[in-house]
Amino acid sequence: MLKKPPVSFEDTSVAFSSRSDEELRRMHFLFSGMSKEFLTKIGTFFVKTALKLKLPVKSVIKNRLFKQFCGGETLSECKATVEGLARYRIHTILDYAVEGESNDKSYDDTLKKILDSIELDAQSQEISFSVFKVTGLGSFSLLEKIQKGDELNDEERMAFARLRERMDIICKTAFEKDIRLMIDAEESWIQGAIDVLVYEMMKKYNKSKAIIYNTFQMYRSDMSFNLQKALEISLFENFILGAKLVRGAYMEKERRRAKELNYTSPIFSTKNETDEAFNKALEFCVQHKDRISLCCGSHNEKSTYHLIALMENQNIERHDDNIWFAQLYGMSDHISYNLAAAGYNVAKYVPYGPVEAVMPYLFRRAEENKAVTGGGRELEMVKREMDRRFNR
Ligand SMILES: Cc1cc2nc3c(=O)[nH]c(=O)nc-3n(C[C@H](O)[C@H](O)[C@H](O)COP(=O)(O)OP(=O)(O)OC[C@H]3O[C@@H](n4cnc5c(N)ncnc54)[C@H](O)[C@@H]3O)c2cc1C
Repeated sequence: MLKKPPVSFEDTSVAFSSRSDEELRRMHFLFSGMSKEFLTKIGTFFVKTALKLKLPVKSVIKNRLFKQFCGGETLSECKATVEGLARYRIHTILDYAVEGESNDKSYDDTLKKILDSIELDAQSQEISFSVFKVTGLGSFSLLEKIQKGDELNDEERMAFARLRERMDIICKTAFEKDIRLMIDAEESWIQGAIDVLVYEMMKKYNKSKAIIYNTFQMYRSDMSFNLQKALEISLFENFILGAKLVRGAYMEKERRRAKELNYTSPIFSTKNETDEAFNKALEFCVQHKDRISLCCGSHNEKSTYHLIALMENQNIERHDDNIWFAQLYGMSDHISYNLAAAGYNVAKYVPYGPVEAVMPYLFRRAEENKAVTGGGRELEMVKREMDRRFNR
């Protein structure tokens, strides 16, 4: 670690420079509620029930929760958000956050949305990446079957061919338009099948630079090994490895399943171990920077400072195109805005989609906000900025 990092996340005037007083008050209201577990639970229950009963709550949700964490309901609605971020040198990763049904129509709709967002990326200077989840394009249970090594029937083989084709269309379009593409990591019991598809795409489209990025969930105890293995595959197959490092979003679900099915959980048993593995993985990627393009997807301040220190120690330029920092829209602005102001490459995942369809994503954010960076960090920063603005 550097004694004095070249950037500090404490400057709330930079962190909230894009927020009006009114927006700041709204954030205070929202994060205060989210910091209390029982309020999050009651709020989630109320919203779910109201939507189920078709009560007229959409505008309230849109103005409160949705606006904080999403870019808009459509791509054109996201324009203002994208431009707003760009004014502060923050790039956008457009994320179609709708968790659709498991059928071909829904998968084809998602494919179209992703292609539309790549098209928008290609026309814009402010958007740098697109992103998708493989389960948005094909069946979860099919991926599970493939990972288990079960034999597929004809129908399943055809469904798998369609999934692979949808992925190929997206990756090829991204390659032709020179847009980078993140592929999200999902549950461990399908991730092996996802990896195979992703490396197949990297082999085709990452020949001279990283267009496609796989995601490495460092809360998994086997992930450091997987990262090393991925580098070996890339060397053997002669492609550049795109690596987005995250800690991982499915910890409870992973542990629950492992317990139910009586196998050892793939997740580290302590947060410390996850943190250590994450920071070691950053070191590994920086050490192999000539072969790995890195995206550090984290709200953790220590890990972010760690990557900054690694870059300083190796004299890597702050705007080196092979190292990116990324956070989710509406979260950890104190990290994103201060990093961008200091000249680092920063991007925000900006989810979009119809309010009702994006709700599962928003519930996860509400849940996660209790845990992110020690619970009240988000709220603490908002309070400090309010204090600075209103009590001087
Ligand atoms: C740009 C971006 C992209 C993302 N993409 C994905 C993705 O593709 N797939 C995905 O799964 N997640 C993804 N995430 C979410 C991510 O995995 C984390 O859930 C989230 O960012 C919180 O982790 P953190 O690094 O910000 O830091 P922190 O808030 O410091 O860490 C919290 C995380 O630490 C881990 N953890 C907590 N307690 C323990 C414990 N007792 N034992 C072991 N580990 C523990 C969990 O992973 C938890 O989410 C993404 C996040 C970002 C910012």
